[in-house]
Parts: sequence; C-alpha cells; structure tokens
Amino acid sequence: MRVSQLFTKTSKTLPADETSKNAQLLIQAGYIYKVMAGVYAFTPLGLRVLENIKQIVREEMNAISGQELIMSSLQKRSTWEETGRWDDEVVDIWFKSKLKDGTDVGFGWSHEEAIIEMMKQYITSYKDLPVNVYQFQTKLRNELRAKAGIMRGREFVMKDMYSCSINAEQHDKFYNDCIEAYKRVYDRLGIGDDTYVTFASGGAFTQFSHEFQTVCEAGEDIIYLGKNKEGKTVAVNEEVLDDKTLADLGLKREELEKVKSAEVGNIFNFGTQKSEDTDFTFTNEKGERQFVHLGSYGIGVTRVMGVIVEKFADEKGIVWPEAVAPATVYLTRLGTTPEVVQAAEDLYKELTSGGVSVLYDDRDEARAGEKFADADLMGIPYRVVISDKTMANNTLEIKARTSDTAEHISRPELMQKLAA
Ligand code: ATP
Ligand code: MG
Repeated sequence: MRVSQLFTKTSKTLPADETSKNAQLLIQAGYIYKVMAGVYAFTPLGLRVLENIKQIVREEMNAISGQELIMSSLQKRSTWEETGRWDDEVVDIWFKSKLKDGTDVGFGWSHEEAIIEMMKQYITSYKDLPVNVYQFQTKLRNELRAKAGIMRGREFVMKDMYSCSINAEQHDKFYNDCIEAYKRVYDRLGIGDDTYVTFASGGAFTQFSHEFQTVCEAGEDIIYLGKNKEGKTVAVNEEVLDDKTLADLGLKREELEKVKSAEVGNIFNFGTQKSEDTDFTFTNEKGERQFVHLGSYGIGVTRVMGVIVEKFADEKGIVWPEAVAPATVYLTRLGTTPEVVQAAEDLYKELTSGGVSVLYDDRDEARAGEKFADADLMGIPYRVVISDKTMANNTLEIKARTSDTAEHISRPELMQKLAA
C-alpha cells in the first residue's frame, strides 16, 4: 500500500466532538471516519486492522469446530416474541422498522433467537448434534450512551457463536474448549496478559456466564484482582463480589485491587432453558424427544480494536501489536533522486514479495519529520528509512515503533529480521 494513494490524510488536530482516546487517534491517523455518535466507517487502513483481528478469531473458532455462516440483519417479530424479547421494555436497545405492508421488522442486535429458529429446521435427531456455528456481523443497537468511540458503538462488529449440544456433558466440553480458544485469541491480539476470565451473573436468560475483561482505563466495568493460594492472579466481577464468592476463590476482600476494565467477550450457558422456551428438540436413540443444550459466545471485534488503541498508545500516537497492524513496516523514502526512488521501489517489491506487509511512504513533497510523525501516529511496528545517506553507507535504518533508537543494518539483514 502506498501512502501517496491513501485517500485518508493524517491530521494533527484533535477531532472536536470526540472525547475518547481511541476514536480521536483512529480518526487522526485515518483508520475510521465518524458518521455520527456511535457510528463509524472503516477506511482501507482500518479495515485491514479489523480483518486481521477477525482472522485471528476465525482461526481459533475453526480450530474448535466452529462453522462460519452469516445471518440476516433484518429479523422477524415472531422470532423474538417466543422468548419475550421483542418487547422494548425487556430489550431496550432495539432498532425497529416496518415493511411497506406494515409488517414489523427488527434490526439484528443479537442472533440468539434467529439462530435457534433456523437450527430447528436442520436439527431433529441426535445424529445431527453437536453443531457449533459462528459469524462476524454488524450488530445494530440503540445504545443510550455512545461516548467511548468504537468501544461502544450503535453499529459494531461482533463475533457471535452458538453451540447446540446433545447433553450437558457435550455442552460443557465445548464451553471449556471455547474458554481456552478465547484465551488464545486475546494472547494473539496482544492483550492476553491483561485479560481475565470472570464469573458473571448472566442475567435473566442464562444459567451462568463468564466474561473476558481486559484491564483498561477507558473501560466501563470494574473488576477486582487478587492472588489466590497458588499465587495466580484471579479476577472477580464487581457484580458478583460477595464474601462467599471470594472465599471459594481463596481471596480476602481487603487484599483486592480495584481496576477499570472493558468486556471484550462473554460466554453464556443456557442449559435447556432457551430450547424449552422455543421448543427446540431432537429425538434421542430411543426415539424420545429431548431439549437441545444451548450456549452463546461473543467477542466484541471492534471493541477489542478500541481497547488495543487505548492500552498501547503513547504521546506520539497508536502502537499496534504486530499481529493486528495494517502493515508491519512503514517504508520511508527520504529524497527524490532517481537513485533513491529506484532503490526504494526495489525494496518495496522485495519486502512485499517476501511476505512482509508494507505501507510505503512514497510521497515526494512530505518532509522527513512529517513522514516520521505519520509513521508514529499510525502505529506501524517498524519504520525503515531509505535515503541517499543510507545508500552511501550501503545500509538501511530500522526503528521499532516502541524504541527510541534506530539501527543501521544491511538489506539482507533487514529481510532476515522481518521475515522472522
Ligand atoms: P455490554 O455489557 O458492554 O453492553 P453486552 O453484555 O451487551 O455488553 P453482548 O450483547 O453479549 O454484550 O455482546 C458480546 C460482546 O460484544 C461484548 O462482550 C462486547 O465485547 C461487545 N459489545 C457489546 N455491546 C457493544 C457495543 N455497543 N459496541 C461495541 N461492542 C459491544
Ligand atoms: Mg450491552
């Protein structure tokens, strides 16, 4: 990708109507465009980050036998009436509309009921189970407050997975596999060390649930961290903080550290409650009807992107972990002599064909300081400089985004470093 071809431009001034750091930086660096409060478009750069996050999630969901699909955004009223969740008193974030003939439709804020309705068509026998499906989809929610940038959108991308199991044992195995898969996801996204699995109440519709909470100043939630007897850090959700919980975990109230956190994922065990409400059954080996065990598993894809920005950004701008960065290298050409232009073009080709993703600053008019500031603001993990000076020494300059000092290395050394 060439910087000269990006239609987005970086900006030095803070967007006037944004108070959240993630939205400010993502707008300034050209990753997102604000349509209105809580509604953002993703530019080519932003889309790359989003797709990198999705790909990590996708690989881990596939690894535990998840099958990807995509449901519709428009939903029927009857789908949600069975469980009482069409009612605005029960679900307060619905966007609803009507077809031309007056028929009510809702815009998908979740797909739990919609998935069940679909699966009832396909799952009738024990031979059809288990089934685990997931999707990435833009959820539409009429959230009351949307002041946290992409961490709380009225339109946001979620990975939602649903499990249909034959019995509690099969369900529990998948539920636990999913906890492990989520841990791998957050590790790969670079926030694993600060992300905790917490037990949560789960509300009226579930038997129990777990949340994945990432320590983050900009988060809306609060968790308490403490050390158990084995010296492992344990986290407790504010909403279930009682002495018996704590005692079960081997924790004492005075010894806990209170921190702000963002819910980056959650998993729910419905048992057979939802299948009883919706009459979702299968016939077992003896020909008897039984209720399907259901679970639901979310990851806030766009929220995670916001959390990563919030956690790692410094005074110069965004700092992407390599796994999600829109490019690994910000290749900076300084100077416009035919020799340096040719050498930079060659290096760009060599890196790209060697599998290294490059954002190539090929602008003639921009000064060195401007190019460096953009590389920092955009948060690209490595900045490589090629100039008449580096060419005279037969070296290239490389600097990690998080380091203060640059290194001078040869072209083969650079290739080796980046390929590793
Ligand atoms: P929250 O308590 O933050 O409102 P939720 O309990 O409504 O979240 P779910 O409906 O189960 O969460 O959604 C699954 C995941 O989607 C959440 O764990 C969170 O990471 C993300 N998420 C939920 N609402 C939003 C939103 N408005 N904007 C961005 N991400 C969201
Ligand atoms: Mg919510």
